[in-house]
Amino acid sequence: MIEVQGLSYSYGDRLALDAIDLKIADGEFVAIIGANGSGKSTLAKNLNGLLLPSAGRVLVDGIDTAIDVWTVRSKVGMVFQNPDNQIVGAIVEDDVAFGPENLGVESAEIGRRVDEALSIVGMLEYREFSPYKLSGGQKQRVAIAGVLAMRTKCIVFDEATAMLDPIGRAEVLETIDRLRAEGMTIVMITHFMDEAARADRVVVMNGGKIVREGKPREVFSDVRFLEKIGLEVPTAVELARRLKLKNVLTIEELEQRLRR
Ligand code: ADP
Ligand code: MG
Repeated sequence: MIEVQGLSYSYGDRLALDAIDLKIADGEFVAIIGANGSGKSTLAKNLNGLLLPSAGRVLVDGIDTAIDVWTVRSKVGMVFQNPDNQIVGAIVEDDVAFGPENLGVESAEIGRRVDEALSIVGMLEYREFSPYKLSGGQKQRVAIAGVLAMRTKCIVFDEATAMLDPIGRAEVLETIDRLRAEGMTIVMITHFMDEAARADRVVVMNGGKIVREGKPREVFSDVRFLEKIGLEVPTAVELARRLKLKNVLTIEELEQRLRR
């Protein structure tokens, strides 16, 4: 679905991405982790043409982001960290309709899409609310609905749970699980290692490069390496390490091993 080939990106003379190669399959759930400043957001913005490569290229369903950015944006949506910065409408349904309106979708179809998107994120009963009256988790779910209403095949979450309280985080993660079950391609940038552990694949960035990639179990088994580049490991992995238990990724697995 997405193919990143030799992607470099510079802000002025500051090189933020250095020759990145990455393929993301249709329906895959990829987590991207890395310390602050490692280039995660810059990579995310290159995936839907918010930024265009300084060198190399990004293909979405075979379409080069530098050639047809509008088609690319109809296929890849983004949800950012700050829910307040993403509100564009005075009421929830207008906010969700904004994306498809910009794509030139006809109004009856927009109405159907808004209903469908709000019901997927569990916010249908709030359709006439002011977004400003919602909790952080609810605002993020409205932002997700806005992307769903554009019928994108892929959603990129750039630390979308970072500003939420535990309840809001759980709401958003549950929504992401639902999208995953429906076959949506998901790219999730996160600094919560427990979130990354749920992905099909984890990509580790450091200094504008991809330095590791693999199944969560593989990537999180090298605790020393992750610590060296300023990252933690999931809670269960850290506890298992102290207890000298091998091959533990989740709390459930740890519980099972301890009950034996
Ligand atoms: P991350 O999301 O992993 O924290 P970013 O992609 O935001 O990393 O940033 C990567 C590098 O690019 C950092 O060194 C950061 O300081 C720099 N950078 C990011 N945005 C800008 C900008 N708008 N102008 C100049 N430098 C930037
Ligand atoms: Mg960032």
